[in-house]
Amino acid sequence: MSNSYSIEPIGVCRTPYAQKFAIPRQPGLVPAAQGIIEMAPGFDNPDLLRGLEQYSHIWLTFLFHQNLEQGWRPTIRPPRLGGNARIGVLASRSTFRPNGLGQSVVEIEAVDIDSRPPRVIIRGMDLLDGTPIIDIKPYIPYADSIPKARGGMAQKAPQTISVEFAKAALQLIQQLPVSKYPNLQQIIVEVLQQDPRPAYKAKRQDDKRYTMQLFDLDISWHFNDGCAKVESVAPLNN
Ligand code: SAM
Repeated sequence: MSNSYSIEPIGVCRTPYAQKFAIPRQPGLVPAAQGIIEMAPGFDNPDLLRGLEQYSHIWLTFLFHQNLEQGWRPTIRPPRLGGNARIGVLASRSTFRPNGLGQSVVEIEAVDIDSRPPRVIIRGMDLLDGTPIIDIKPYIPYADSIPKARGGMAQKAPQTISVEFAKAALQLIQQLPVSKYPNLQQIIVEVLQQDPRPAYKAKRQDDKRYTMQLFDLDISWHFNDGCAKVESVAPLNN
C-alpha cells in the first residue's frame, strides 16, 4: 500500500494580497481586508455549504502553493525571534513545511450559495491571492478556544507602529472607486501597522523605500521615526 495521498483543492481564495511581501503573518490582524472563496468545479454544488451561515468563523486549510517548489527544511528562523535563532519547523507556522499546508481561522462575512460558483465571503485572512483551499470547517468556540493556552514565543500579538499618509497619496486613494478597492485606506493602515519589513529590521530606523502590491496597485512607503509613511499609490508596474 502506498503512503502517498493526493489532495484536490475544493476552491480558490481571492484576496487583495497580490504578492507575499506585507501579507499579515497571522489571520485577524487586518480585519479590513475582504477575501472571496470560490468553490471549484466538482465542489460547486451549493449543498456543500448549506448551514455554514450559522457560524461566525471558519477554519481554512490551504496550500502554501507559492512555496511548494522550494521544499522544506527541518529548522527555520522565525521573524518573532528577530530572524536569527533557529527552531524546529513543526514548532513554527513557517510556510516551508512538510506537505505545505496552512491553516487559519477567519471571519465569515457572508455565505453566498446562490452565486455561480457558490462563494464564502471572509475577512482578515493571511492568504495570497489565488491560494488553493483544501478544506473549510466551522470554528467551534467551546472546543477550539483555549484562553489559558501557552503561546510560546508568540504569547501576544506583535506591537503595532503608527501609519501616516503623504497628502498626494491620500488624495489618490480617495479618488479610486470603492467598488474595486473596498476599504483600501484601512487595509493599508492595518497592514503597515504590523511593520512588514524583514524581521531583522523590525522597529529599527531604515532609509529604504518599500513597495507592496495590494489589488492591482503599487503602494510605496518608508519607515521613519517609528512610523510608516505612505508616499505613493499607483497602478502596478507604473
Ligand atoms: N495562519 C497560517 C498558518 O499558521 O498556517 C499562515 C501563517 S504564515 C506565517 C502566513 C504567511 O504565509 C503570510 O504572511 C504570507 O507571507 C504567506 N502565504 C500566504 N499565502 C501563501 C501561499 N499561497 N503561498 C505561499 N505563502 C503564502
